[in-house]
Amino acid sequence: MVTTEKATEVLQGPYEIEGGFVHLRAGRCPECGAVFCPARAVCDGCGHRGLDEILLAPRGTTYTFTTVHQSTPDFRTPYHLAYVDFDEHVRVMLPTAGEETPRIGAAVEIVLGPGPRLVDGEPEVGPHALMVGTPATETSGGNG
Ligand SMILES: [Zn+2]
Repeated sequence: MVTTEKATEVLQGPYEIEGGFVHLRAGRCPECGAVFCPARAVCDGCGHRGLDEILLAPRGTTYTFTTVHQSTPDFRTPYHLAYVDFDEHVRVMLPTAGEETPRIGAAVEIVLGPGPRLVDGEPEVGPHALMVGTPATETSGGNG
């Protein structure tokens, strides 16, 4: 009997809370090692079916960002979207948390919060990138 249980497992829910931290759910190809977030049933790199489910680290680094000023009525504008690089070699686009303008190179922590998308008139709660560090562009006198 053929079952799709594995694929369904991989594709369910975008995140998991573990040890108080929000981890995005992703898929890693057991053949070529490519990582996808959100997870998918088939590897884009080599076509392998059935990716291993992994949880990404709760922190990443801002690769770049954009500010959205116009959207459909289902989104409150303006809002920021950041591309976040994770140690697992995957880049994920996330809305940012807070009013702060994102900074390229800044460390971010993944947090849950109300986003720009409205569902039944209320902000949808989901994972966001919260800026927690400053870019390492300045050198300081001490090593701490
Ligand atoms: Zn692959």
